[in-house]
Amino acid sequence: MEFMKGMYLIWPDNDYIDKAIDSGINKFFFAMQHSTKDIIESVFEKYSDKVEIIPMECFIDGRALPRDQQFVHKGQYLEHTPCPTCKEFIKERFRIPLEMYNKYDCRSIAIDLECYGNGPGFISYFRDWEESDYLCECDRCKKFNYFEQHTINANLIGEVFGDAIIHQLCYVNPYIWRTTDYWLNEFTYEEWGVWQKILKNTRKMKKDYDATTKNSSGLWMEKFTADDYLKCLKKIVKATSNDGYWLYPQMRMSKNCFWRTHPDDPYSKRELANLPYHSFIDAPNDNTSDTEFFIKLKELNNNIDDYRSGWWFGLRKWISGWFR
Ligand SMILES: [Zn+2]
Repeated sequence: MEFMKGMYLIWPDNDYIDKAIDSGINKFFFAMQHSTKDIIESVFEKYSDKVEIIPMECFIDGRALPRDQQFVHKGQYLEHTPCPTCKEFIKERFRIPLEMYNKYDCRSIAIDLECYGNGPGFISYFRDWEESDYLCECDRCKKFNYFEQHTINANLIGEVFGDAIIHQLCYVNPYIWRTTDYWLNEFTYEEWGVWQKILKNTRKMKKDYDATTKNSSGLWMEKFTADDYLKCLKKIVKATSNDGYWLYPQMRMSKNCFWRTHPDDPYSKRELANLPYHSFIDAPNDNTSDTEFFIKLKELNNNIDDYRSGWWFGLRKWISGWFR
């Protein structure tokens, strides 16, 4: 099995996509809700023959849904949270990603299950699957119990996406997990740890739901110096609990990042205040960056097979297999 060398695209910047490809990154998870149709098409036109571009969308965010697609909880219509048994919602939300999927002959689709936003219209339906009482009471759903609603939701996702390989960010929701190829792990964003960040979750899935998936650990670039980022990537590559990594850059690999282009926007100010490193990852004359970042990344990628072979790796892989 090939180790995933992935990257998240949020505000695509061709210069940095080129640098990433040149250093060995070959799967791009494209969060399409932030780009215009023209930008989306241009990325596919330019890169879909060279690398795998994976159309991605999220289920819960600030976009208001038609009333018929809303989750009804305790008598309240939740404007930003979709009803789990509404197939129309999935088709509509993934309309452009599916269009790209078909037009550019893609193999995979990624679903982001994070709940972006908070307040009365939002519930973290996919994060809180273990302890919540989130039962949709709409006309379609009222005859189904909690387990059935989640199961129908997972089945509908399968129906809409057909033969597409499904990847899941960022929670370990077991209902969708059963049909998921890669789990794009965000617990590893800032801090590395095999048990707490990976195996604790995969073990629960294996034990309680008989579900196995591949783990790809995400690493948030704005939280690291270039040097520390590469060190952490190396740890990820060497760990047997990983089947891949994905770079998560927002501004360190894009001049089109909203926070760069709109620095005075309240959203930018809020985000930037929480992120320690804002410069380009390969910026010159900056001790948090490294002009040779991509050369070093390429070298790391070229050595993946060596790092992941030998009897000691095999033994550790066998042991971590008990928890996955
Ligand atoms: Zn419903």
